[in-house]
Amino acid sequence: MKALQLRGKEKLMLEEVNSPIPQKEEVVINIEITGIGGSEYLGYNNPGIRSLPNIMGHGISGRTKEGIRVAINPLLGCTICDYCNQNLVQLCTKWQLIGVQINGGFAQQVAVPKTTLVELPEHISWEQASFIEPFANSINAWEIAAIRPTDKVLIIGAGGIGLGIAACAKRDQHKEIYLLEKSRQRRKAAAETGAITAIEKENYYEVVFDTVGSDETRKEAIKLMKRNGKSIFLGFATAQQDVNFSELIRMQYHLMGSFVYSKEQFSKAIKLVEFTKTEWVKNLRFEEVEPQLRAFLKDDFSVVKAALRPNK
Ligand SMILES: [Zn+2]
Repeated sequence: MKALQLRGKEKLMLEEVNSPIPQKEEVVINIEITGIGGSEYLGYNNPGIRSLPNIMGHGISGRTKEGIRVAINPLLGCTICDYCNQNLVQLCTKWQLIGVQINGGFAQQVAVPKTTLVELPEHISWEQASFIEPFANSINAWEIAAIRPTDKVLIIGAGGIGLGIAACAKRDQHKEIYLLEKSRQRRKAAAETGAITAIEKENYYEVVFDTVGSDETRKEAIKLMKRNGKSIFLGFATAQQDVNFSELIRMQYHLMGSFVYSKEQFSKAIKLVEFTKTEWVKNLRFEEVEPQLRAFLKDDFSVVKAALRPNK
C-alpha cells in the first residue's frame, strides 16, 4: 500500500510499504479520509515523541472489510490503571495515539483494535467525519469549562477544535460566543456555526478557549479574561511560557488544560459534526499533503480543514 512516512524533521516520503497485518483483536480499515491538523503540521516540523519512521494522521475514518463505515478513536491506554478506570485514558502513563506513537492514517490502510471503532451513520459525509476527532477535543474542553448561560465565551483560533467549540455552543443554544481568528475563510466557517467576531476588550470574557497555544495567544487569553474567569488551553504551539503568579492569585484566574477526550466524548462528536459543512474540507492526494503542511507552518490558514483521501 501507499503511505507517507515521516523520516525526520520536514521529511515526509511517499513510499510503498507492507499492508498492515492485524494482530489479535485488531481489524484492518480501508481509509476513506484522514484529517490534517495541528498535530500533523507540528509533528512534521518537530517529530518530538514520535519514533521514526512514523505514519502520521490520527483523525481517521474508513470502512471495514465488510464495508461498514467507521470512525477510529485513536486514543489507547493500558486499560487497568486508576486513570483508565476513571475514563481518563489520556492521563494514563502508557497513553498512545494511533497516528502519533503508533502508525496512523497517512496510508491506504491501518490495523487498529476493534475497540477503537465507532460506527458512522450514512448521513455524515466523509468530509464531515474528518471533524470528529478535533470535535471530541472540543467537547472535553467545553465540559471542563462548565459554562453558565450568561457567560461571554471567547474562542481563539477557528481550526477544527475552535469550530468544534462553536458547534458545542450552537448545540447548547449558547448565544454569547465570540471568535478571534486571522483567516477570513475560518472566520466565515465559524460564523456559519454562530460565532460572532470578538471585541478585543481587556477583562471582558468569563471563559476563554485558546486552541492555538502560542506565546501570543496565551497572553491574549489572560488579558481578555475577566477576573475570576477561566481560560482553557488546548494548543501545543509553545511548550514553556512565563506566567505571572502574583497576578494569577490576585485576579483569581483559573487556567486549565484540556487534553483529548473520553470514549463517550468521542462518540458524542459524531453527532456534533452535523454542524459542519462538507465544503469546508479540502480533499488532498498523497502528493498534496506536504505542500499543505508547509503552508500551515507558514501561517497560511486559508483552508478551513485539510484532509487526505488515500484511496480516492
Ligand atoms: Zn492506564
